[in-house]
Amino acid sequence: MRLDTSRVIRLVDYKAPDWLIETVHLDATLDDTRTRIVATIQFKPNPKGMGGALVLDGDDLVLESLALDGVQLPTFAYTIDRHTLTLHDTPQRAFTLTIVTLLDPAANSQLMGLYRSSGNYCTQCEAEGFRRITFFLDRPDVMAVYTTRIVAKKEEASVLLGNGNRVEAGDLPNGWHYAVWHDPHPKPSYLFALVVGKLGKVGGSFMTRSGRNVELGIYVESGKENRAGYALDALIRSMKWDEEAFGCEYDLDVFNIVAVSDFNMGAMENKGLNIFNDKYVLASPETATDADYANIEAIIAHEYFHNWTGNRITCRDWFQLCLKEGLTVFRDQEFSADQRSRAVKRIADVRTLRSQQFTEDSGPLAHPVRPFEYREINNFYTPTVYEKGAELIRMLKTLLGADDFRKGMDEYLARCDGTAATIEEFIACFVDTSGRDLTHFARWYEQAGTPLVSVTETFDSESGHYRIHFAQSTKPTPGQPDKQAMVIPLAIAFLNKQGLELKLTPKTGQLDDHVFVLDTESADLVFEHLDEKPVLSALRGFSAPIVLELDTSDDDRLVMLAHDTDPFNRWQAAQGFAMKLLKAASITRREGREMHFDPRFAEAVSHVLNGKDHAFIAQILALPSESDIAREIGDNVDPDAVRDARLGLRRALGHHIGQPLQLLYATLETKESYRPDPQSAGSRSLRNVALDLLAIGMPEIGLRLAEQQYRTADNMTDRFAALAVLAQHRGEAREIALEHFANTFENDPLVLDKWFSLQASIPELETLDRVKRLMAHPGFSMKNPNRLRSLIGAFAAGNPSQFNRADGAGYDFVSEIVIDTDRSNPQVAARILGAFKTWRTLEPDRRALAETALRRIADQDQLSPDVLDIVTRTLA
Ligand SMILES: [Zn+2]
Repeated sequence: MRLDTSRVIRLVDYKAPDWLIETVHLDATLDDTRTRIVATIQFKPNPKGMGGALVLDGDDLVLESLALDGVQLPTFAYTIDRHTLTLHDTPQRAFTLTIVTLLDPAANSQLMGLYRSSGNYCTQCEAEGFRRITFFLDRPDVMAVYTTRIVAKKEEASVLLGNGNRVEAGDLPNGWHYAVWHDPHPKPSYLFALVVGKLGKVGGSFMTRSGRNVELGIYVESGKENRAGYALDALIRSMKWDEEAFGCEYDLDVFNIVAVSDFNMGAMENKGLNIFNDKYVLASPETATDADYANIEAIIAHEYFHNWTGNRITCRDWFQLCLKEGLTVFRDQEFSADQRSRAVKRIADVRTLRSQQFTEDSGPLAHPVRPFEYREINNFYTPTVYEKGAELIRMLKTLLGADDFRKGMDEYLARCDGTAATIEEFIACFVDTSGRDLTHFARWYEQAGTPLVSVTETFDSESGHYRIHFAQSTKPTPGQPDKQAMVIPLAIAFLNKQGLELKLTPKTGQLDDHVFVLDTESADLVFEHLDEKPVLSALRGFSAPIVLELDTSDDDRLVMLAHDTDPFNRWQAAQGFAMKLLKAASITRREGREMHFDPRFAEAVSHVLNGKDHAFIAQILALPSESDIAREIGDNVDPDAVRDARLGLRRALGHHIGQPLQLLYATLETKESYRPDPQSAGSRSLRNVALDLLAIGMPEIGLRLAEQQYRTADNMTDRFAALAVLAQHRGEAREIALEHFANTFENDPLVLDKWFSLQASIPELETLDRVKRLMAHPGFSMKNPNRLRSLIGAFAAGNPSQFNRADGAGYDFVSEIVIDTDRSNPQVAARILGAFKTWRTLEPDRRALAETALRRIADQDQLSPDVLDIVTRTLA
């Protein structure tokens, strides 16, 4: 574990490397506890650098020997400390170092560098894992050509995979064999990978548009090949889509994906050899839900798209992380929107953005999309860099229009190919191709916090004068007390009371193609001679990552819910109405009074039940989450009152529209066998939301249907949805179903993860004891990140009322786990700790208890930089 914690890395301190690396020959002889790495590295002085001594990064390495141009160096020729190897009297010319290091993959519990997972060897090098394999210039702006020779015992490993194309393979004496991989594309060290083990393969091929035949392979645990078909299908669709949508073609002869079961992240885009958390590869109708299939499709696409946005063009330094991540998330969102329902995809993405990024942006961990400084880069793989980063690209497209956006992208892909680039270079491509000034827009990368845009309408019925006043403001965030006005594209339309869209031209202010650009602190749109005040449909499609404060009347909301041609705003009208009821009910509940819900909401919702887009209707029926409501309340939050308010509205809704829901549930039943396509997935999601509302609104009917569905379902989506409904209701039926599920899937860790998460999310006081009991379940392991996230992570981040228990027991439990996990896997520990990020918004008693738990973590002697960084910022 690294102990120094004072080191702060700042963007302004960036200096070009003094040395560059031309080629790397890595010879890896795999052994459980004694893997030998011989790295032969060609260095040359960087013309843009200062020369001087060569200082290499290293972490937890045992050096066996070091040679310069083939001559062994005595130990006094270099110095090794905890993080570096410094070569004294470095020759000021090109030279070659041969570095021999010894690794213990079996002891690597951090899962960074080279490690063992389920008997196989694999690597994770982003962000700074390569320095745990050999001493290196481990920074993204040092790009080199890699050749990897892998040697392993045949009986231990049938598969030897590296980056690039396989150029050689064969047998060696005494039962060993080897393979040599060569990657002709210069790349930074974080994209290095190797995988060695006994794995099954599902193969395919793809012909690129210029006629390159690419051999595709998905490697999984032997015996699970029949669960890899969907991933392969998603990969082929991704490759085709990227050629059509962005002109990006694949550039090697092979593309391999390996699924591993111990993985800190979702997946990793190593050149030609993507390594995936098996959760995002393996799927079969019996074991995966529709949501799993959609995630697999999105993540396979995301990692593949990195081949251009991330690998061919990489980041100059880690401050530019959004250059590859924001852009690639935008690309995968567009891919999924094209493959599925665009409206539903947008709604789902905005839900995620609001629940994760908006929460981050308004709390102690807020930071700009491109941070100015960091202590531990692992902690900046955040919703802000990823999700808000993607929103910036989306706004850029809205501001420029689709044609100029594509021209700018083409320019970027051509101009920056083969380089380690910056945000400035990216923006310059759009400036040069469109002729637009984007200086002001670029502020989005620098300024943290979610802008609030408040909109006030005034209408004079005598003169028909209609004025819309827009004003923007952003609250201070850590390190940024004063905020400037941002460029905010607001997509706008007007409806009449019958819901028909009106074509209005402003007398003052500009509306370009239905977009109003607010780029000052305040501005007006003025219209004259209107017969009546129009219904203002603002922020259509969620055209900017802002909070819109617009006092829409209930009547106008109902018009939009029924008629708005923008599906996002139809959904938003329902959400806005529900949110208003939920906030009011939370207050009522806290004051001990009886909650009351305006029946017009249920009435309006009942009218949309017969629409055609089932997935969309399911989104309308899904109420804002507890954390959404807490975020809207903003301060002095009582999580129990929030939970009860949400339960109350679901009950009222389920009761009020119980009959149409029953009918819908029956109509949507199908005899067809399961397919994961968007249409049938949409119908299942609607049917299952209906079941959930029925079970709470009309329990005697709904729970019976849930039990029946659980027993008869032929796919995991329906079976698990029924189990989730039962899990929300105390009683014998729940415990019987939970036990049956565990027995049925006892040998299937990914399915058991769902079972862990479900129980950790039950919003009742007994849940903490249940979670503690489940930690002793044979299927649980503190060492596996997926298990930890599914049980502890789900409790901490997905069960607000129980994590924030009034007696503080939730905080005590999670803080102990964080301290414990930090000793073996700091990255995962820091993630779990992130659940405390909203502690300051709680009511005073809980706030005090959360602070005590946080201080107990902060007071530990030997915290990793990961956890120390998060706990310090959370308490600041
Ligand atoms: Zn990514």
